[in-house]
Amino acid sequence: MFACSRRFGSAGLGKTAILIRSAGGIERGFVVQVCRACEDPPCAAVCPTDALKLRSGGGVLLEAARCIGCRLCVDACTVDAVLWDDESDKPMICVHCGLCVQACPYGVLELSKGG
Ligand code: SF4
Ligand code: SF4
Repeated sequence: MFACSRRFGSAGLGKTAILIRSAGGIERGFVVQVCRACEDPPCAAVCPTDALKLRSGGGVLLEAARCIGCRLCVDACTVDAVLWDDESDKPMICVHCGLCVQACPYGVLELSKGG
């Protein structure tokens, strides 16, 4: 999360496109909420302004100037991977750069083709 935030120029956790949350107790571990790079992304399908462009290889790219902050993409994502940037009032969209993969010391994350 810190690595992703740095990509957006933030030193904290205010801007991240990946979220690690508790699965509900120590025994149950943690859940990673991150974009799965859908080949037919529902987030893009519901965007009324065409602000989410299909990305080669799966997933989407945000054209921020077109975004009106309606949050329809947040509700449409089936894995809750569209996080919100309160400062810009726009979604934080994973660009699949792999910084989180490099930063994870336990090898939990990997980049793979979406679907
Ligand atoms: S918040 Fe922006 S990117 Fe998401 S659906 Fe609305 S206009 Fe499109
Ligand atoms: S943000 Fe959600 S719906 Fe959009 S491509 Fe990623 S996983 Fe699919």
